Amino acid sequence: MEKCTEYYNVADIFGENVFNDSVMRERLPKKIYQKLKQTLREGKELDLNTADVIAHEMKEWAIEKGATHYTHWFQPMTGVTAEKHDSFITAPMENGKVLMSFSGKELIKGEPDASSFPSGGLRATFEARGYTAWDCTSPAFVRQDAAGATLCIPTAFCSYTGEALDQKTPLLRSMEAVNDQALRLIKLFGNHTSKKVMTSVGPEQEYFIVDREKYLKRKDLIFTGRTLFGAMPPKGQEMDDHYFGSIRERIAAYMRDVNKELWKLGVSAKTQHNEVAPAQHELAPIYASANVAVDHNQLVMETLKKVAGRHGLQCLMHEKPFAGVNGSGKHNNWSMITDDGINLLEPGVTPHENFQFLLVLTCILKAVDVHADLLRESAADVGNDHRLGANEAPPAIISVFLGEQLQDVLSQLISTGEATHSIMGSMLETGVKTLPDFMKDATDRNRTSPFAFTGNKFEFRMLGSQDSIAQPNVVLNTIVAEAFSEACDILENSDDFEMALHDLIKKNATEHQRIVFNGNGYSEEWVKEAEKRGLSNITSMVDAIPALNTEKSVQLFEKFGVFTKAELDSRVEIEYETYAKEINIEARAMIDIAGKQIIPAVIKYTKALADSINAVKSACDADVSVQTELLKEVSALLSQTRTALLRLEEVAEQGTLIEAGRKQAVFYRDVVMKVMTELRTPVDKLEMIVDKEMWPMPSYGDLIFEV
Ligand code: ADP
Ligand code: MG
Repeated sequence: MEKCTEYYNVADIFGENVFNDSVMRERLPKKIYQKLKQTLREGKELDLNTADVIAHEMKEWAIEKGATHYTHWFQPMTGVTAEKHDSFITAPMENGKVLMSFSGKELIKGEPDASSFPSGGLRATFEARGYTAWDCTSPAFVRQDAAGATLCIPTAFCSYTGEALDQKTPLLRSMEAVNDQALRLIKLFGNHTSKKVMTSVGPEQEYFIVDREKYLKRKDLIFTGRTLFGAMPPKGQEMDDHYFGSIRERIAAYMRDVNKELWKLGVSAKTQHNEVAPAQHELAPIYASANVAVDHNQLVMETLKKVAGRHGLQCLMHEKPFAGVNGSGKHNNWSMITDDGINLLEPGVTPHENFQFLLVLTCILKAVDVHADLLRESAADVGNDHRLGANEAPPAIISVFLGEQLQDVLSQLISTGEATHSIMGSMLETGVKTLPDFMKDATDRNRTSPFAFTGNKFEFRMLGSQDSIAQPNVVLNTIVAEAFSEACDILENSDDFEMALHDLIKKNATEHQRIVFNGNGYSEEWVKEAEKRGLSNITSMVDAIPALNTEKSVQLFEKFGVFTKAELDSRVEIEYETYAKEINIEARAMIDIAGKQIIPAVIKYTKALADSINAVKSACDADVSVQTELLKEVSALLSQTRTALLRLEEVAEQGTLIEAGRKQAVFYRDVVMKVMTELRTPVDKLEMIVDKEMWPMPSYGDLIFEV
């Protein structure tokens, strides 16, 4: 076990590898620094001269950190980040030496040969140009790892014709949309001092950690990130003894390293704890502006994976690595905060008197109700289908949890048209004299709601663990921008502002009551109740995808300049294709494992059984009925396995012949996945019978209880 021998002051290392504001203030000429700040403030374009100076300083700084290369770091529609590295060197001079250079042009614009990234038909391969453009709102950083040190420049990725091919471009557009509308809204309440409204995001990241040597013996984990076979261990998570349990030393040493790496990158890793499932953990940073939070979440995922390797561990980021054991998700905490620090979701002590808050809140109710399909879609990824609605994550039904206090205020408004009081938090009395009594929050928490109000933010809890958090925030920002814009249209033109405001709050609350649910979201009753209310329950990604380019969606996103119809269509195509591809890889991995590892192992075991029967018989006349029964049972399961394997080969092949699109995705879900289960069932039974020494891979128990 590696001992902790290195102690340091976090404040000294925090952000040391980030080209952040204080570095820029120190290193850039004053005029240039001011110009950049102005660009950031006003969202203007940077001129090439200024960019040249910034690029030069950035390079000098990066070289001091050991950087040899730079890269435009971007987020194509693959869910992970992409990069292409260029070194700083110039053509050798006459004396054979090279210079290190980095120009403004190279900083601002890149042109990766990007024809192989998913574009959903936005680009034919013969028009393969794609551009990356510097996003100066997310600071550049130097990443140090086995490849050396690299200057990473966060960029947006667009096609030759300016269409978004990535996660960042629509996110930035949506942040502008909500900023514009939120500024309009707060002006109505007399706020003329705030210059900007930023969406703030704090994502809580769940993950599993297993031993790397064991991981390497599981081809399913290697190829697909989840186990495709595996019988449940004798003990699961029923004792709840892992949740918030004390962190084992091997994991603690790993977390210490992860934190250090993240802090150096300016990621404010704050909270860490064990999660519900054995071997499951969580990391949460302090919230940041949506754009930075999205970038940081990518860094968090990369770092969790990379550092695990150094500790002989493997980080599993899949939504459902082990069937029957809780999977992993992300909680996307979201709020809107002005540049001068006012949180629009802060209810204050007496929310019934806080009309701006009530307007914001009821606009959000409206947005979520009207566009529940889009929110659901934004949390869809292949792995998440295994979690949503499986009593471990929110159901696939979108609803909003408000809590007792706000529910009460809205009920007063709806029934009498007037809210006259707010329920107050009371004292918490423990009954122990030496423990302090303190004020409770006005509302308890609810862990089963997909979209819960938690004090001064909403927590969108449906997200999958390995997915980018960009799209959920794009949707949140845009649908709230729309609700704000519709509210402002009414209020700006009203003769009697107070009356109109009061009516609008009441109208929004009344018309969108159905989306509010404060009860147990995991219960069967809720599924029925939701159906009565007309709320949809979309359990499969394939059925969630169409929400993206309905007429309603196209109108919404085009109105706020977030997506064009072509961009939405392309995303629909990419998602269907991703779905089919991922299931196809899973099917092929199962075929490979069953054919090359499991069937041969089972045959060895049947041979051992048969040998034992013969040996006993020839030695004496003892009873061999147990061996015979086992041999029969194993042979029957072996035959089932082989039949299902052949069938899976057949349907997987059929799937690849269907043209990419909805039809193909539906085929993979309805036909291929079914046969995958048919293959898994006998294999999992075999695992419980066959000699453990002969089983070709570590079991669930080995993986999750012996880290
Ligand atoms: P929990 O009680 O759910 O653990 P925390 O208060 O610890 O909640 O916060 C969880 C996450 O929410 C953290 O990443 C935190 O930084 C973030 N968060 C807190 N306040 C806000 C806010 N106003 N907007 C966005 N995220 C926030
Ligand atoms: Mg939380």
